[in-house]
Amino acid sequence: MTLLPDAYFARFTDITPAFLQARGIDALLIDIDNTLAPYEEPDPRPETAAWFAALAEAGIRAALISNNHADRVERFNAALALPTFPDAHKPLPRTARAALAAIGAEPARAASLGDQIFTDVACARFCGMQAILVPPIRDKRTLFWRIKRALERPIIAAWRRRNGEFTQV
Ligand SMILES: [Mg+2]
Repeated sequence: MTLLPDAYFARFTDITPAFLQARGIDALLIDIDNTLAPYEEPDPRPETAAWFAALAEAGIRAALISNNHADRVERFNAALALPTFPDAHKPLPRTARAALAAIGAEPARAASLGDQIFTDVACARFCGMQAILVPPIRDKRTLFWRIKRALERPIIAAWRRRNGEFTQV
């Protein structure tokens, strides 16, 4: 099992429907915290809603899947109205599999989108999905997070030796 992501973008808004379609992806399971917004932003920005509208327009299904709790997830989703899967316990695959089934997605044609290798990418691997990584928008500075990011660094370095700084579209 590789923890190297299939694609790595500087920010989620760089991911286009055309890129996803070229990779055979018609469904995304999307993390919230540090992927779509920093922890301290309760609501999506206007460009976030526009990005989801472009996905929907292209027929790409999407769901929010977060290890955070329902209050955070539902508030964030109020203006987006997506299927939501809080308390997902990523990297465990159970909730992600339920999310794929709920939106009628096949794992082989789906991808995770998230900022963490050991939760978001690993969950994708357990489910047989592709994995798209983005850098964290604004990390917490606690020791726990610094250790997590230090463990991710060699994996990202290995990805970059093969692929360059970010995925080119
Ligand atoms: Mg996250």
